[in-house]
Amino acid sequence: MQKKELKKKLENQKKELRSMLERFAKEDDKPEGDWDTKFPKFDGGALEEAADEVEEFDSLRSIEHSLELKLKKTNKALEKIKKGTYGKCESCRADIKADRLEVVPEAETCKECTE
Ligand SMILES: [Zn+2]
Repeated sequence: MQKKELKKKLENQKKELRSMLERFAKEDDKPEGDWDTKFPKFDGGALEEAADEVEEFDSLRSIEHSLELKLKKTNKALEKIKKGTYGKCESCRADIKADRLEVVPEAETCKECTE
Protein backbone atom coordinates (compact mmCIF):
# COMPACT_ATOMS: atom_id res chain seq x y z
CA MET A 1 0.00 0.00 0.00
CA GLN A 2 1.29 3.43 -0.90
CA LYS A 3 1.80 6.21 1.59
CA LYS A 4 -0.94 8.20 -0.10
CA GLU A 5 -3.41 5.38 0.47
CA LEU A 6 -2.28 4.93 4.06
CA LYS A 7 -2.81 8.63 4.65
CA LYS A 8 -6.31 8.34 3.28
CA LYS A 9 -6.92 5.34 5.50
CA LEU A 10 -5.71 7.27 8.55
CA GLU A 11 -7.88 10.25 7.68
CA ASN A 12 -10.94 8.05 7.33
CA GLN A 13 -10.09 6.32 10.57
CA LYS A 14 -9.81 9.68 12.29
CA LYS A 15 -13.25 10.71 11.03
CA GLU A 16 -14.76 7.41 12.12
CA LEU A 17 -13.22 7.54 15.58
CA ARG A 18 -14.38 11.11 16.09
CA SER A 19 -17.94 10.32 15.08
CA MET A 20 -17.99 7.30 17.40
CA LEU A 21 -16.70 9.39 20.28
CA GLU A 22 -19.14 12.20 19.56
CA ARG A 23 -22.01 9.82 20.14
CA PHE A 24 -21.33 9.56 23.85
CA ALA A 25 -18.47 11.84 24.76
CA LYS A 26 -17.46 15.43 24.37
CA GLU A 27 -14.07 16.68 23.38
CA ASP A 28 -11.99 18.42 26.00
CA ASP A 29 -9.99 21.51 25.04
CA LYS A 30 -7.57 21.01 27.88
CA PRO A 31 -5.67 18.81 27.51
CA GLU A 32 -6.11 18.79 23.77
CA GLY A 33 -7.22 15.49 22.32
CA ASP A 34 -8.81 14.38 25.55
CA TRP A 35 -12.41 13.23 25.58
CA ASP A 36 -14.87 12.96 28.44
CA THR A 37 -17.65 10.44 28.58
CA LYS A 38 -20.99 12.11 29.14
CA PHE A 39 -22.64 10.82 32.24
CA PRO A 40 -26.01 9.29 31.37
CA LYS A 41 -28.90 11.39 32.59
CA PHE A 42 -30.51 10.32 35.79
CA ASP A 43 -34.25 10.52 35.56
CA GLY A 44 -34.82 10.29 39.27
CA GLY A 45 -35.74 6.61 39.02
CA ALA A 46 -35.07 3.84 41.48
CA LEU A 47 -31.63 3.41 42.97
CA GLU A 48 -31.27 0.18 41.05
CA GLU A 49 -31.66 1.99 37.76
CA ALA A 50 -29.07 4.50 38.84
CA ALA A 51 -26.66 1.66 39.53
CA ASP A 52 -27.25 0.33 36.03
CA GLU A 53 -26.41 3.71 34.61
CA VAL A 54 -23.23 3.88 36.63
CA GLU A 55 -22.27 0.51 35.21
CA GLU A 56 -23.06 1.71 31.72
CA PHE A 57 -21.01 4.83 32.35
CA ASP A 58 -18.03 2.72 33.40
CA SER A 59 -18.15 0.58 30.30
CA LEU A 60 -18.61 3.62 28.06
CA ARG A 61 -15.65 5.21 29.76
CA SER A 62 -13.41 2.27 28.99
CA ILE A 63 -14.58 2.27 25.36
CA GLU A 64 -13.94 6.01 25.30
CA HIS A 65 -10.37 5.50 26.53
CA SER A 66 -9.52 2.97 23.85
CA LEU A 67 -11.09 5.10 21.09
CA GLU A 68 -9.31 8.16 22.41
CA LEU A 69 -5.98 6.37 22.44
CA LYS A 70 -6.46 5.15 18.90
CA LEU A 71 -7.46 8.63 17.78
CA LYS A 72 -4.34 10.10 19.37
CA LYS A 73 -2.14 7.56 17.61
CA THR A 74 -3.96 8.23 14.36
CA ASN A 75 -3.34 11.98 14.68
CA LYS A 76 0.27 11.31 15.52
CA ALA A 77 0.68 9.10 12.46
CA LEU A 78 -0.79 11.86 10.27
CA GLU A 79 1.71 14.31 11.78
CA LYS A 80 4.51 11.89 10.99
CA ILE A 81 3.39 11.68 7.37
CA LYS A 82 3.70 15.47 7.22
CA LYS A 83 7.15 15.38 8.77
CA GLY A 84 8.25 12.45 6.65
CA THR A 85 8.98 10.15 9.59
CA TYR A 86 5.99 7.90 9.07
CA GLY A 87 6.53 4.13 9.03
CA LYS A 88 9.60 4.08 11.27
CA CYS A 89 9.57 2.08 14.48
CA GLU A 90 9.80 4.41 17.49
CA SER A 91 11.76 1.88 19.40
CA CYS A 92 14.36 0.41 17.01
CA ARG A 93 14.06 2.90 14.11
CA ALA A 94 13.57 0.11 11.59
CA ASP A 95 10.96 0.42 8.87
CA ILE A 96 7.62 -0.97 9.95
CA LYS A 97 6.57 -3.61 7.46
CA ALA A 98 3.97 -2.57 4.93
CA ASP A 99 1.62 -5.42 5.78
CA ARG A 100 1.55 -4.28 9.40
CA LEU A 101 0.81 -0.69 8.41
CA GLU A 102 -2.00 -1.90 6.24
CA VAL A 103 -3.70 -3.51 9.24
CA VAL A 104 -2.60 -0.97 11.86
CA PRO A 105 -1.85 2.26 9.98
CA GLU A 106 -1.34 4.11 13.28
CA ALA A 107 1.34 1.65 14.48
CA GLU A 108 4.18 3.30 16.40
CA THR A 109 6.46 0.30 16.64
CA CYS A 110 7.36 -2.65 14.44
CA LYS A 111 5.97 -6.09 15.07
CA GLU A 112 9.14 -7.31 16.79
CA CYS A 113 9.18 -4.42 19.27
CA THR A 114 5.47 -4.76 19.99
CA GLU A 115 5.73 -8.41 20.90
ZN1 LIG B 1 11.14 -1.95 16.27
